[in-house]
Amino acid sequence: MTNAHAHIEGNRPLGKVYLVGAGPGDPGLFTLKGKALLEVADVVVYDALVSPPILSMVNPHARLLSAGKRRGYHSLSQPEITQLLHELAQQHAIVVRLKGGDPFVFGRGGEEMADLIEAGIDVEVVPGITAGVAVPAYAGIPVTHRSLSSSVTFVTGHEAAGKYRPEVDWRAIAQGSETIVIYMGVHNLPNIVKALTDGGLSSETPVALIRWGTRPEQDELIATLATIEAEMRATGFAAPAIAVIGAVVNMRPLLAACRPAVADIKSGAGIADPKILPSPPTTIGNPLARMDSGIV
Ligand code: SAH
Repeated sequence: MTNAHAHIEGNRPLGKVYLVGAGPGDPGLFTLKGKALLEVADVVVYDALVSPPILSMVNPHARLLSAGKRRGYHSLSQPEITQLLHELAQQHAIVVRLKGGDPFVFGRGGEEMADLIEAGIDVEVVPGITAGVAVPAYAGIPVTHRSLSSSVTFVTGHEAAGKYRPEVDWRAIAQGSETIVIYMGVHNLPNIVKALTDGGLSSETPVALIRWGTRPEQDELIATLATIEAEMRATGFAAPAIAVIGAVVNMRPLLAACRPAVADIKSGAGIADPKILPSPPTTIGNPLARMDSGIV
């Protein structure tokens, strides 16, 4: 199929692939740049963790293709995805590769981008808000705090078996980082907890597990390194979740009192709807007033 905007010279793909981060789920946390691309995309290839309200921002004329990617449900392999994007870039002008969170944070965005560049395809990254920062925030946990934590490590819990890189050095992390934020860690959490306590972390260190963070179904489990495994078993806590380990978890009772509201575009209270935004103070520099007057 040829596209109105695509210019195809021989076999050279002239479409462009945008690697777009969708953020952790709340559509209000999606970037304006990402949203604008969904409104003009010819085709969107999305991962399983992209939330439905964000998919509903895709213009109705675009092809919408799922690339799968959840533990145990890999519907397309990484080389198949690259091949698909390569083919789509030959047929369409604007190809959006939509990933949960930020494409370059445990999202294989770096690999995908390198493969596409190697294949001669024009590609650009549009960062997103990563789950490791926003999900704790929505649970009332700041990942750094002047008196509790001056350092944070973002680490994958998925490669405990040391599959594609040398194993994570949990001992070094236990000793060198005051906050530890683990992606894809639910499955391996018992091993990780053991490695961290072996590495010197107190078994009294607080742990928060936050599932489906920033979404209406957000669920939290708070425990310590000593108790988290039993609590997970007792509650049947399952992925996808972010784990936060460290003293910052103790801020939660105070900060969670003022929880962010999750934007719900299905109910009509869309992110572009001024009604869900706080009232601007006065007239000068008021972006909503500028919007109304058509300047923006
Ligand atoms: N690129 C993504 C991370 C992809 S790895 C980002 O920057 O956020 C997938 C892991 O991210 C999940 O296993 C889970 O640990 C975490 N994750 C992503 N979205 C999440 C959410 N809404 N709530 C909790 N964890 C989430």
